[in-house]
Amino acid sequence: MCVHAHPDDESSKGAATMAKYVYEGVDVLVVTCTGGERGSVLNPKLQGDPYIEEHIHEVRAKEMDEARQILGVKQSWLGFVDSGLPEGDPLPPLPAGCFALQDVDVAAGALVKLIREFRPHVITTYDENGGYPHPDHVKTHEVTVEAFDDPDVPGVTCYIARARTELAMRVRSLSGAVRDDPERLKDEMVRTLRRYFGDTINKRPIIVPYVMEV
Ligand SMILES: [Zn+2]
Repeated sequence: MCVHAHPDDESSKGAATMAKYVYEGVDVLVVTCTGGERGSVLNPKLQGDPYIEEHIHEVRAKEMDEARQILGVKQSWLGFVDSGLPEGDPLPPLPAGCFALQDVDVAAGALVKLIREFRPHVITTYDENGGYPHPDHVKTHEVTVEAFDDPDVPGVTCYIARARTELAMRVRSLSGAVRDDPERLKDEMVRTLRRYFGDTINKRPIIVPYVMEV
């Protein structure tokens, strides 16, 4: 069982790993916490398309259908509403009723129901930082850990997957100066790396799983 925040996260985080297990005959269930209602259109060719802007939820649901077929996974919606990525200084308040504002117990209850039905051997989700600072990703971590701690959940093994592969590729793509002199680099990538590696950025080996993400 792979618990994700939005439709598209299953494709950008762990897709190759899921496809590997499906190929080996394992049942894989993607749980998508929100409908992706407040997602941004990043593809320049699709930006400004009035149909997409008005029907973002339906467009993303259709993309999810295609991802489900391509990966060979099962998929369930948890039914919460996308919180959006707050931007600005100071950050604006989160929209009423969004996933990030849900009571953890309530949201975890919905996941516990799916866990009881599917009875996974392994559950993966983001680390406590959410992989990146989107409130829905952080909430996904909290909800998954809460659900796993529920006394009614059968004895499954929980592995919190960390998105190291993408970070590792980014590290390799940077010049040696990144690790030699991190102070020189101020962009968001390095802030992200620091959040993961902290003061050990010069010392800690990068762990690359044997199944590389594509
Ligand atoms: Zn996401």
